[in-house]
Amino acid sequence: MRVLRLFDPWQGELCTCPPKYTLNPYTGCAHRCLYCYISSFIPRAFEVREKPPFLHLLERDLRECEKTLYLSLANSSDPYPPVEAERELTRAILKLCQREGMPVLILTKSPLVVRDIDLLQAMQAAVSITITTLDSQKARLLEPGAPPPQDRVRALQALTEAGIPTILRLDPIIPGINDTQEEWHTMLARLAPYIRQVVASTLKLRWDTGERIATSFPEIRHFLSLFSERKGRSLYLERKVRRALLEKLREIVHAHNLPFSTCREGFPEFNDLTCDGSALLSR
Ligand code: SF4
Repeated sequence: MRVLRLFDPWQGELCTCPPKYTLNPYTGCAHRCLYCYISSFIPRAFEVREKPPFLHLLERDLRECEKTLYLSLANSSDPYPPVEAERELTRAILKLCQREGMPVLILTKSPLVVRDIDLLQAMQAAVSITITTLDSQKARLLEPGAPPPQDRVRALQALTEAGIPTILRLDPIIPGINDTQEEWHTMLARLAPYIRQVVASTLKLRWDTGERIATSFPEIRHFLSLFSERKGRSLYLERKVRRALLEKLREIVHAHNLPFSTCREGFPEFNDLTCDGSALLSR
């Protein structure tokens, strides 16, 4: 059995990333983001479970795999759930990647990633941290199990000071919740010194996400009719609505002299770099 699999976002026609491997150290995610799509395909999605031991299999796969590709950690969970502080499974994976020369792209909402700076400095690695809002009250409702945004800001700062390439993932943008230019300006003014790129994406609704968001943000109901473009199993905002949102955000990001990219939006002309952080690594 292979544990290193090629990342395949549901044969997403809109994905413009280079090919890469993906690995979820844990099954399920403790952050419980209301907008999360994993509940549409992972049972008990918001309960973190350990998988049967797999590091010996990973070691074999890393020896045999294509080293020109990257390993993305992680795409259907966070590689730093609270239990990682004690279990150190993600740390063990990073150690193997470092030894085998596998470049890693980390995607997380947890400041626990700072613990692994010693390893990240010794390998090819970029870290994307998702911050949807700097408003801690709003974040607590939207991402009830995730670390507060200010902790994520401090993590970006620590990583940058340690020389690790960092990316702000402003994802997802949700109409009526975190889509004002004022909020984006504030966020960019605060974060620009600690990031090398901004990646943004609008909310993609799955069958259960609209209702889940509406439990804490009833105002989202006014906007649900705008999600009218079906792509695979997701409903996207109307093309002209998401284009206008992303165009405006891009202007703000460029005003801070940062490169901008979108993720699975269908606007490749908006992408200054790849959206997974790989462009920040020298290979
Ligand atoms: S951090 Fe990602 S995987 Fe985890 S609940 Fe939030 S959106 Fe889902």
